[in-house]
Amino acid sequence: MVKICASCHEINPGGYRCSMCGGELLMVSDDEAQALPEEVWRQQRVDYGARRGMIVRFLGIILGAVTGVFLVREAIVLDGPWNLVGAIAGIAVGLTVWRLIYLAAGRGVRIWVLRKGQLHKRKLARAMLASAKR
Ligand SMILES: [Zn+2]
Repeated sequence: MVKICASCHEINPGGYRCSMCGGELLMVSDDEAQALPEEVWRQQRVDYGARRGMIVRFLGIILGAVTGVFLVREAIVLDGPWNLVGAIAGIAVGLTVWRLIYLAAGRGVRIWVLRKGQLHKRKLARAMLASAKR
């Protein structure tokens, strides 16, 4: 259950007191939390996106390293000079895997943040339409 701090607007994973400042936590679905300025929510989306991006980048480093080490190990048993060629190629592939995931994570953060912003806009437009019909 995700909660938001009433005083510093830090998102907390449940609990009653903020882990950052010890302030009172609100349920994100509460009217009081919803009444917080849009800027707070936008900032939280950026934070969440950045945090998710960091996790993906971290996974990219591991995946790249594992791929590289695996390929180098495979190449070492080959006869020279193919073991050297294979080892270099293995390292290159590992670096490429890491680089691709790194770039994808950066793009993903922008998409996550943007798409959620657009979703919000669509919801707002729908609400405006509904109130205009009334
Ligand atoms: Zn706080």
